[in-house]
Amino acid sequence: MIDHTQLAQQLQQLDRKGYKAYNSIQGTYRFPEFTLILDRIQGDPFAKPSQCRIQIPQEIAGFPVDLYANPSRAVGLRDFLVRQFSQVAQQIQQRLGTGNSGLIAMVQPGSEILERTCVFIDDQQVELRFWLGLPAQGRRINGYQAAELLCTKIPQLVACLCYAQLPTEAVQHHIATNEDADWLRQQLSLQNLVAFVADGAILPRRSGIDDRPLDTAIPFTSPAALRVEFQCPHRGLISGLGIRPGVTLIVGGGYHGKSTLLKALELGIYNHIPGDGREFVITHADAVKIRAEEGRPVTHLDLSPFINHLPYQQPTTQFSTSNASGSTSQAANILEALELEAKVLLVDEDTTATNLMIRDRRMQALIAKGQEPITPFIDQIRPLYTVQGVSSILVMGGSGDYFEVADTVIAMTAYQPKDVTAHAHQIAAQYPSDRNYEAGQPLGASRPRCLKLDPVALVWNDRPTKIKVHDLRQIILGREAIDLTQVEQLVESGQLRAIAAAIQWLHRQYPGSNLSFAAGIAAVMSTVAAAGLSSLSPFPESDFVYFRRFELAAALNRWRSLRIED
Ligand code: ADP
Ligand code: MG
Repeated sequence: MIDHTQLAQQLQQLDRKGYKAYNSIQGTYRFPEFTLILDRIQGDPFAKPSQCRIQIPQEIAGFPVDLYANPSRAVGLRDFLVRQFSQVAQQIQQRLGTGNSGLIAMVQPGSEILERTCVFIDDQQVELRFWLGLPAQGRRINGYQAAELLCTKIPQLVACLCYAQLPTEAVQHHIATNEDADWLRQQLSLQNLVAFVADGAILPRRSGIDDRPLDTAIPFTSPAALRVEFQCPHRGLISGLGIRPGVTLIVGGGYHGKSTLLKALELGIYNHIPGDGREFVITHADAVKIRAEEGRPVTHLDLSPFINHLPYQQPTTQFSTSNASGSTSQAANILEALELEAKVLLVDEDTTATNLMIRDRRMQALIAKGQEPITPFIDQIRPLYTVQGVSSILVMGGSGDYFEVADTVIAMTAYQPKDVTAHAHQIAAQYPSDRNYEAGQPLGASRPRCLKLDPVALVWNDRPTKIKVHDLRQIILGREAIDLTQVEQLVESGQLRAIAAAIQWLHRQYPGSNLSFAAGIAAVMSTVAAAGLSSLSPFPESDFVYFRRFELAAALNRWRSLRIED
């Protein structure tokens, strides 16, 4: 292994050479306190910065075993270090020269505590994976700055990230918060709940582009009738709204906080950082947001539980379209979630197709059942729960027809929830909707879909395609972009990178095979569970972030090159 002093000399000798000469420093270097591995060297100062790893042995890093003794703590600690790294890097980096010269950067986390491939901790070492902008003046190497970046700044950074230098209380609190949140999510099923919103939680955000808690927010207070309590391992006694399995309606006037509550529940599948306000908003891990998504493709999906008897006998049991309508896209979103055994569906009337949600008595009288291909959600929502065991939480301020099918009705009034179940049921009895129940094809009997994985789909101009990701919106894969704008439970672009890698991994592992769609997804998830996100790529990627099977499936299902057979 080359010594760090030699690296410094080598860099100085590269001074004023063409940028490509940096290629020669790819490799592994021994520093007194750590090992530096330069994995990928950028081609020019404006390109994606160079990728490197640092391995700090635990004798130096000094993290007590207790802080990463179980997966929940380890993820909490790793997440803390990502944030700490960014803070320290901000302070010590010096952006000199052209392009990204001098940059020191790691994946940018949001408000969620997530597993990421940029920090690892075990009994042997701490590994940090990040990007460096190798310094240039114009397109010539600045060797002296490079030597300072690698041989002075990086050791400074490492020193700041050893346990002795960290704010111990903040570390402990971060880890405890994550562990409590995981514990609460486990408790949900034991206590027969699908979601929990703690008293005192702050749900609204500052704005659509600012994820921090709204500072003038009214804290959440649970209605006494729906209040539950837990004794958390760290935080101790906590109380809040417990949402039971079944059908839950969230009603209330416009602007009274319905969508804000649902949004918090959508993201309650993830844990949140201390101070976020949603640390103890906890949703069943298999809860899926459902919405209408006009324009999305649908591939070979059995839509018959919701859409049947199209004009001219067009079948809907193997339905494909490159441009789904509002109702069709929402039906597809539901059935795809069920294909992967979602346990809770989250629906907001603001983003649904009305004709999929409801057909009221007058419309039933005017347009006979035989003329309407759609079985509305209101007629599938009970069997969905009683037969399939899938609960629904719906924001529904506009249609009282749902009172009949609801187990629980929560009214939001000036951002505060009230239990109005009894009243809603009384109203339903007093003013019957007189709708006819419209039986649809049974749920759960859908045809299994077979993935046809054609590696050619991932080749472009005879070369394997590179993955590109645009924010949270798009994965560019193969010949096309996968539009994920409306997949609302994605929170970091690193999830999209990992999902893209998972799709490539599937093609490598099972080329041409006839795996069922669900089995393909399960193969990815079990590999990730056993060997980590890193196992999705042969390269030591620094920017993969945890994803669920639902979001992986969402990407595949929106990929226009997806091939499905019976
Ligand atoms: P609805 O879906 O009932 O029409 P929203 O959830 O969209 O209402 O909320 C309306 C507005 O109220 C939003 O700007 C939101 O940020 C704000 N809001 C929501 N909850 C609270 C709260 N607890 N305290 C203060 N403002 C809130
Ligand atoms: Mg709303």
